[in-house]
Amino acid sequence: MTEINAFIGVGSNLDNPVQHVIQAQQDLNNILKSQVVQSSSLYRSAPMGPQDQNDYINAVVKISTALTPLELLTALQQIENQHGRVRQGERWGPRTLDLDLLLYGNKSIDLPQLKVPHYGMKERNFVLLPLFEIAKNQELPDGTRLIEYVNTIDQSGIEKLS
Ligand code: ATP
Ligand code: CA
Ligand code: CA
Ligand code: CA
Repeated sequence: MTEINAFIGVGSNLDNPVQHVIQAQQDLNNILKSQVVQSSSLYRSAPMGPQDQNDYINAVVKISTALTPLELLTALQQIENQHGRVRQGERWGPRTLDLDLLLYGNKSIDLPQLKVPHYGMKERNFVLLPLFEIAKNQELPDGTRLIEYVNTIDQSGIEKLS
């Protein structure tokens, strides 16, 4: 059975976000044919998009999985639903839990429901900083190095929690 390393971006800004993020780390370990390899620290970040919402708690979790990318996406969405995520109209509105598939091995995926690498990761400090913390030498499928994006990202509005 081939196991692939995948990185999951975790975010929450409703109903005790720290608890949701910690619980999500356990939930990710409980996914079928998957286990958590490493988790980043927790970070607090200013909201993206609508500003009339709470700060976010973010982290990145590395898992090893034998699921296909689409199976993994389904599992991530099930966990979001278990956390009571309610999808309202507003883009980037508040949520109890968001799980984005950032990287799946060295694969590029371009399906209607799944784009990997995640399209926003290169421009989001709340993704790049926790990812870099646990994957210093990571490369993207196009051969660029994660550190190139980290070196140029604006690091304002984000704080690493101890
Ligand atoms: P953003 O995608 O900009 O971070 P968001 O996380 O708030 O915003 P969602 O409402 O959680 O967006 O997801 C919208 C859709 O994105 C999902 O239904 C899913 O099919 C799709 N999607 C595409 N690529 C990915 C990916 N790499 N990880 C998770 N969802 C993805
Ligand atoms: Ca498991
Ligand atoms: Ca997201
Ligand atoms: Ca999402």
